[in-house]
Amino acid sequence: KILLASICVAFLAVKWTSPSFNEESLSGARVLVTGASTGIGEQMAYHYARFGAQIVITARRQKVLQQVAEKCLSLGAQKALYIAADMASESDPDKVVDFAIEKLGGLDYLVLNHIGPSPFSMWEGDVDHTRWLMKVNFFSYIQMAWRGLASLEQSKGSLVIVSSLLGKMSSPFVAPYTSTKFALNGFFGAFQHELAMKKSNVSVSICTLGLIDTDSAMEKVREVTSVPAYPATDAALNIIITGATRQSELFYPWFTYIVSLTKDWFPSFTNYAIQKSYSYSP
Ligand code: NDP
Repeated sequence: KILLASICVAFLAVKWTSPSFNEESLSGARVLVTGASTGIGEQMAYHYARFGAQIVITARRQKVLQQVAEKCLSLGAQKALYIAADMASESDPDKVVDFAIEKLGGLDYLVLNHIGPSPFSMWEGDVDHTRWLMKVNFFSYIQMAWRGLASLEQSKGSLVIVSSLLGKMSSPFVAPYTSTKFALNGFFGAFQHELAMKKSNVSVSICTLGLIDTDSAMEKVREVTSVPAYPATDAALNIIITGATRQSELFYPWFTYIVSLTKDWFPSFTNYAIQKSYSYSP
C-alpha cells in the first residue's frame, strides 16, 4: 500500500508541476517533423497545422507527403512544405535540415520521429539489418540534431526526440528496434546534460511512448499481445505540448512512467509479465 501510495504521489506531483500549454505560442512557429507521411508524425503535422505553424515534413514517399502537406494547409498551417529523403543515406539528414532552415528562415522546433521498418520476430542473426536500422533510427537523429542546433540556439528552440518504453526496457521480438531506442535515450540524455551545463537556449524533450495504434505497430502486434494501444492523435498532441512547454521528458500513456520506475524493483516479476504478455509457442 505504501509503495502504491508513493507511486501515486510521484505521478500527481509530476502532473501538477507541469507547465501550462499556450497554443498561441505555436502560431507561426517554424517546425520540421520527420517521419510525417504516416502514423504519429502525420498526426503531429495536422496538430501543428491547426495551431497555425509553418511546417516542413519529410519521409521517403513524396506522393504521400504531398497529400499530408495539402491537408495541413487546409487545416490552417501558415506554410506546409515537404521534402522526400531517406534517413539511411549519409547526406539526406543534413539536406533536410538545410531545406527547412532555408524555406522557413530558421527553426523553432526540430521533431525527430521517423523509424525504418523492422520485423517483429525473434532475432536470427541479421546484423546488416540492425546496422541499417541504427543508421535510420539513431545516426540520422544525432546528425540532424547537430545540423539544426545553431538555428535552434538563435530561436531559443526545442529539440523533440520520439522514443519508446522499449528504449528503457527490453522486450522480445524487437531486438534491433529496442537497441536503437536505448541508443537514443543514452545519447540525448547526455546531450540534455551538456546543453544545460553550457547554459544553452535549446530544450531537449525525450518522449517515452507505450503502444500506439498506428497501422505499422498494430499490424505487428494485433495477433500476439493484448497490451492496450493508445490513439496516435493523442500521443501526437502530448509530444507537441511537451516540446512547446520545454519539458525534458514525456511519458505517454501515463503508466509508462510507473513501468519505467518499477521495472527494476522486481526483475523476475517484470520479466515474467513481459514474456506472458505475448502469445508465443516455440
Ligand atoms: P510509422 O511506421 O507509422 O511511421 C514511420 C515514418 O517514418 C513514416 O512516415 C515513414 O514514411 C518514415 N520512414 C520510414 N523509413 C524511413 C527512412 N528510411 N527514411 C525516412 N523516413 C522513413 O511509425 P509510428 O508513427 O508508429 O512511430 C512514430 C514514432 O513513435 C517512432 O519513433 C516510434 O519508435 C515511436 N513509437 C511508436 C510506438 C507505436 O506503438 N506506434 C510505440 C513507441 C514509440 P515513408 O515510408 O514514407 O518513408
